[in-house]
Amino acid sequence: MGVPRSKIPWYPTVDYARCNLCEGDPQCLKFCPHGVYAFEEDPKKLAVKNPDNCVVFCRSCRKVCAADALSFRDKAEVLAAIQKLREEKNQ
Ligand code: SF4
Ligand code: SF4
Repeated sequence: MGVPRSKIPWYPTVDYARCNLCEGDPQCLKFCPHGVYAFEEDPKKLAVKNPDNCVVFCRSCRKVCAADALSFRDKAEVLAAIQKLREEKNQ
């Protein structure tokens, strides 16, 4: 992408009003091979522990969330943000 990953705002957001932790067996955590999610014990909660590990424009884990609790920013918005960062870098 030509810009530092940490500046790209692409990662899952968890709607905690919907997330039921898959009744103790978080499917998104199992599914993602990049260690983005972590399970916190006290209190029990799904955390987005490593947002920068999320593959930019991947949304695959949404498919395994039966509670529809995962969301991502609008792709066009994020593309525009990346473009802006690139322009700033080249100035
Ligand atoms: S798959 Fe959905 S409901 Fe299950 S732990 Fe992840 S966000 Fe929560
Ligand atoms: S969108 Fe892809 S890379 Fe990001 S957390 Fe979900 S499965 Fe992992």
